[in-house]
Amino acid sequence: SSVLFEAHELKKHYPVKAGLFKEEQLVKALDGVSFSLSRGQTLAVVGESGCGKSTLARSLTLIEPPTSGELRFDGQDILSLGAHAAKELRKRIQIVFQNPYGSLNPRKKVGQLLEEPLYINTDLTKAQRREKALAIMAKVGLRPEHYGRYPHMFSGGQRQRIAIARGLMLDPDIVIADEPVSALDVSVQAQVLNLMMDLQVEFGLSYIFISHDLSVVEHIADQVMVMYLGKVVEYGPRAQIFSHPRHPYTIALLSSTPRLNPDKRIDKIKLEGELPSPLNPPSGCAFHARCQYANARCHEQTPELKWHGDTQIACHALEEQRM
Ligand code: SF4
Ligand code: MG
Repeated sequence: SSVLFEAHELKKHYPVKAGLFKEEQLVKALDGVSFSLSRGQTLAVVGESGCGKSTLARSLTLIEPPTSGELRFDGQDILSLGAHAAKELRKRIQIVFQNPYGSLNPRKKVGQLLEEPLYINTDLTKAQRREKALAIMAKVGLRPEHYGRYPHMFSGGQRQRIAIARGLMLDPDIVIADEPVSALDVSVQAQVLNLMMDLQVEFGLSYIFISHDLSVVEHIADQVMVMYLGKVVEYGPRAQIFSHPRHPYTIALLSSTPRLNPDKRIDKIKLEGELPSPLNPPSGCAFHARCQYANARCHEQTPELKWHGDTQIACHALEEQRM
């Protein structure tokens, strides 16, 4: 399948004033992220809260453009496009947020919320906008009578359906979903995930699906990218990541995840301690303080992503075959 969205060495570095003397420090919220996403496929981005996932989402939609790196969408370098071309292209990249309370204006009815992107971006008439809104509502499981209701009249799951419908109004090629089901009950999560998978097939969508929870992406992902403190630590095919996780952080994330079919062959690793502050990142491998395989080299030298089979992993222990 053809490549739709490609990132090369994306970085988001910004200075902050911190500490007792308010000295300037450089935060590396994204530090060299690369991926390649094909049409109709799903890339899942996972890691603990604070690992850079949401920064990545905002960089990819150019809400907060990256500070360096390359971003190609459908063959075009979107970071070097002029304002008009970039605006046109951005319609094809939509984002759905975790909190539909926050992202849906409570003073607007569902119909208005859905038609707004068409009003802003197209020449469609009022009747055409309404027709399109009702058609998309049907696709996400909302009924015509919902058209005139306000977001607060809906359950969390239905509200997320509204947010997804709004994301589909401009016929995007790709939807970036930042923790789209994390605020929902587990039973409702499954419904929304199934809906997203149906919509993907129907509209040929690509997804970048961001989650702190690996179990959520097990069925929807084609590729999984595990991030830690702004860097990719493991990136490969879904089946590989779930059946043979290799990076100690991936193994720890999987060990803490309740799964339907736990794989007995995977030795569990308990995830101890907290994610370090990006203001004061550890030297060498950023995971070393929490890693049972860490040695002196891990404290000094940052491991690079290297191919192991069809997966890329950044870990000295794997490279040295001592785990
Ligand atoms: Fe652990 Fe070292 Fe591998 Fe980092 S590089 S994950 S500290 S073994
Ligand atoms: Mg986040």
